[in-house]
Amino acid sequence: MKRTELHIVIGGGIAGCLAAIMRRRAGYRVLLLERAEARSPEAHPICTGASNIVSENHSGAEYPFDPQSARDCFDGRLVNERFFPDLVFGGKDYSRVIASRAMQDSGTDILGQCRDNMRVIQDRYAQRCAEDPANALFGAPDQVCREIPAPDGISDVGAAFVTPQRGINPVVVTALLDQELRRCGVEVRGGADVTDVSRRSDGTYQVEYVEDGVRKTVVGDQVALCAATETPAMARRLNPSLALPPIYMALRQILFVDLPDRTTRNYTCLKLEDEYGGMLSPFSRDTALVYYPPAAHIAVRRVDPTTYALPDDFRHFLRNGHPEATERAQLALRQLTQWYPEVRGAEVVSAHLKVAVNTTDSSRLRRNAGVLDVAPGCTATVLLKWTMCVVNAQRDLEAALRHSIATGNADRDEYAELVARGTVPIAPPSDVSAWRRRLRIFARNMGVPEALAAPFVDAGEPGSGLAHTVPSLASS
Ligand SMILES: Cc1cc2nc3c(=O)[nH]c(=O)nc-3n(C[C@H](O)[C@H](O)[C@H](O)COP(=O)(O)OP(=O)(O)OC[C@H]3O[C@@H](n4cnc5c(N)ncnc54)[C@H](O)[C@@H]3O)c2cc1C
Repeated sequence: MKRTELHIVIGGGIAGCLAAIMRRRAGYRVLLLERAEARSPEAHPICTGASNIVSENHSGAEYPFDPQSARDCFDGRLVNERFFPDLVFGGKDYSRVIASRAMQDSGTDILGQCRDNMRVIQDRYAQRCAEDPANALFGAPDQVCREIPAPDGISDVGAAFVTPQRGINPVVVTALLDQELRRCGVEVRGGADVTDVSRRSDGTYQVEYVEDGVRKTVVGDQVALCAATETPAMARRLNPSLALPPIYMALRQILFVDLPDRTTRNYTCLKLEDEYGGMLSPFSRDTALVYYPPAAHIAVRRVDPTTYALPDDFRHFLRNGHPEATERAQLALRQLTQWYPEVRGAEVVSAHLKVAVNTTDSSRLRRNAGVLDVAPGCTATVLLKWTMCVVNAQRDLEAALRHSIATGNADRDEYAELVARGTVPIAPPSDVSAWRRRLRIFARNMGVPEALAAPFVDAGEPGSGLAHTVPSLASS
């Protein structure tokens, strides 16, 4: 690179952390501004927003109604498998997907949709393996998803499938991101609430933020907007003629529960729902995330297409809690015991209100929104699924490099090498015991149960010893 540019990344969720890491590795100086305050000097205040409750690295099976959503998720899943060390997935290596009989009986051909979708995923996998043999990570394409006999103890099963979807432990991911941010030299400033971003006449960007009640300004060569619900509004203010897709924001409640002893934890269960259904996703040795849409889906709104602001009542509930939180939690647990015997006897550890962003009002449709070019040298990532995080971070890096080439700060010849440098997989922890001790600090920082700091597989201890009730897809 001819001149080392300063890049400012706004928002320290998974999107912002990866944008910062990839840009820094490619040779830029990077400042990451995150609104959340650090609760410990030992841990950056990252992944405290939607990224702290993510459970699943989706494989596409969750989207039987829209082949493009399924393909997008599968691509993300594949790239994530190569980018993150196995540790983040813990011992879980597959998901069980149930198509409900009641849905079929009420006239939705959910079985047919699921079977068609299994073929969509198989075809996508076959195509990706043909493009690059290194993608052949889940065994033979015709076995990557398959129908299995109906599992015992679950009511309302039309058909059951296994897919290569895996759960991810957000605390483990966050600790790894923190390590990588430090290793590659990203400057992270917590407690920095960005209030304005503007483009100056020389093409650089002025970012204003408030830190400890003091207004501050920093000027950078390029900016990446990764502030989730605030990103569309920031992008629109910067470029009023920017074409943005319709943006929907949904207020959701998920629960962490303490699973009874001797529960099999090595898989995720997903029940495809219309007005019912739900998910059980074990996260750590004791704790699972549970999700039951009729109780979890509190409200969905299309945001104002001029301001793109988070709805005021959502802001209020995020700050003060939701009045129905307890009833909704009880309803979720009560209903889920019908499908997941594992949940019997489980106790709620914590409930979390979060906002999901989408480009439609249907949670069964989630195509990748990609990375937007807001203005020369400014990108915006609206990450609809964690699953698509690495795919999008690479696109963000490519956009940054294209801008550097256009402004004469980088050579076209360097492009491929710098992309390759930026996207090198994240290495497992270098000092395993120090890293393991730090997981608890991250759980506290992220506001999630400390039990998540006991992942399925500890670094340096391959093999979880957990029961595999369905043969591993990787070995099939
Ligand atoms: C209930 C629920 C369940 C989900 N489950 C899954 C799942 O199982 N699998 C999956 O793939 N995806 C899932 N998702 C989606 C996933 O959580 C998101 O796609 C992903 O976490 C978004 O990452 P992000 O970095 O864009 O946002 P965030 O993690 O929200 O990060 C945005 C960051 O920007 C910061 N910020 C905001 N404004 C400012 C500002 N003005 N100045 C400075 N910083 C600012 C915030 O503090 C935050 O840290 C789920 C979402 C929800 C709501």
